[in-house]
Amino acid sequence: MPALAAHLGTAARLSVKADAWTGLGLGGNKVRKLEYELAPPRLQGITDLVTGGGPHSNHCRVTAAAAARLGLGCTLVVNGEPDDERRGNARLHRLLGARIVTVADRVDRDWAMTEEADRIGAGGGRALVVPIGASTARGALGYVHALVELHTEAGKARPSIFTSSSSGGTLAGLILGCAILGWRPGLVGVSADETAAHVKETATGLAVSAARLLQDGDGRALVSRVLEVAEAVITTDDFVGPGYGNATPESDEAIALFGARAGVILDPVYTGKAAAAMIAWIRDGRIREGDHAIFLHTGGHPALFR
Ligand SMILES: *Cc1c(COP(=O)(O)O)cnc(C)c1O
Repeated sequence: MPALAAHLGTAARLSVKADAWTGLGLGGNKVRKLEYELAPPRLQGITDLVTGGGPHSNHCRVTAAAAARLGLGCTLVVNGEPDDERRGNARLHRLLGARIVTVADRVDRDWAMTEEADRIGAGGGRALVVPIGASTARGALGYVHALVELHTEAGKARPSIFTSSSSGGTLAGLILGCAILGWRPGLVGVSADETAAHVKETATGLAVSAARLLQDGDGRALVSRVLEVAEAVITTDDFVGPGYGNATPESDEAIALFGARAGVILDPVYTGKAAAAMIAWIRDGRIREGDHAIFLHTGGHPALFR
């Protein structure tokens, strides 16, 4: 992103890790998580996927695309109606053939997902329930994989890696990857909704559980390295603004700058806010000449069109 760096007046190196283009159902970070959630041995005998989210959920979109590709049914438990089902992810959920069940509130989603799975079971099928956001220990392994790629791509540098963060699975995988490789880039998790403390706590918890999945026995050595990496992670909620999905002047500016100065299209819910954080760090000198800042682009483009 040399033109963006020049525009911002920084001699730092800026890069984008293009996880917006992960290749299934318009891509994004949920594809990497589903690669592990939907590993072939877990799909034996499965006829349907059941998951949930908001009416414009990226996770629901990618899960519906995966189901379609695998020849499985898909039920999405969605809290609330979209303002317009012909737009954004709400349109894509339908276009990808998902059956949509609407519940009144976020807190109703989990039991409704179980109920839908039971209903499928009673009808002779077998459902795999994919937890919301695929932010499980298993799903986080997708971002261990991404971190290994980043390590190769960054060369000898010790970059700062900026990622949007919400349910913490992405950040958890990055943390575990660093612990495994013994690599210590700066990790910056920029919240899209929750408090900074909550993001750090959930990401750390998921990274520890994922470490235990990888290790025989109690995995104590890896877990202690995970905790050491997690300790150094910076999470921030300074860019959430009025709340989840609501644009801020900083996110609007970041979307405009990445577009016009780098040809990189961001989204208003997640990546616009994470990019605003990276720009703020460049402007206040926390990223400076000789540094390498990597923006992990987690996707979310359909939110531009809702
Ligand atoms: C889900 C999502 C995130 C947040 O990822 P978590 O693993 O839940 O922290 C970030 N960006 C986009 C575009 C997403 O869809």
